[in-house]
Amino acid sequence: MNNDDHIAENLALAEKALPNSLSQKEVQLVNEAAREFRRVMRVGCTGCQYCMPCPAGVNIPSCFECYNSKHAFKDRSAKMMYLFQNGGMVTDKPTLASMCVKCEKCLEKCPQHLPIPDLLNEVAEDMEGFFTKPIIWIGRRMMKVRKKEKEIQ
Ligand code: SF4
Ligand code: SF4
Repeated sequence: MNNDDHIAENLALAEKALPNSLSQKEVQLVNEAAREFRRVMRVGCTGCQYCMPCPAGVNIPSCFECYNSKHAFKDRSAKMMYLFQNGGMVTDKPTLASMCVKCEKCLEKCPQHLPIPDLLNEVAEDMEGFFTKPIIWIGRRMMKVRKKEKEIQ
């Protein structure tokens, strides 16, 4: 549950749902779907944001979301999305996984007990590389030019 709507929806369902209201087949289907979901997700991050803000400026949920998209959905654009979202093009400051300084302040805040610094290391190795800095530099320049063009219009 990530927002008030989710809580309201779950409370409404809990009022209607009775014990044993699902058939064996439906229970099996739910279990299979849950198993498959856990299998394809590299990081079991729910995006709850309890770990934020990170003192080093890492956008922890965004890094995990892009990493999961790349692997779970074989999303080829996930790497570009990662650099766009976390390279400082939309937020002015970079929020990349490689910025983690392993202070471990986020660890006790995560309800999923994720080993966040280790997982961010995995994300940085997979999603960043030799071309990260030049791509971010070009992207930020383009965003600045666009911003100026809009100001002139
Ligand atoms: S361990 Fe890394 S991600 Fe967690 S709070 Fe510290 S710098 Fe941020
Ligand atoms: S607290 Fe854990 S589950 Fe929530 S956004 Fe941070 S890493 Fe993800």
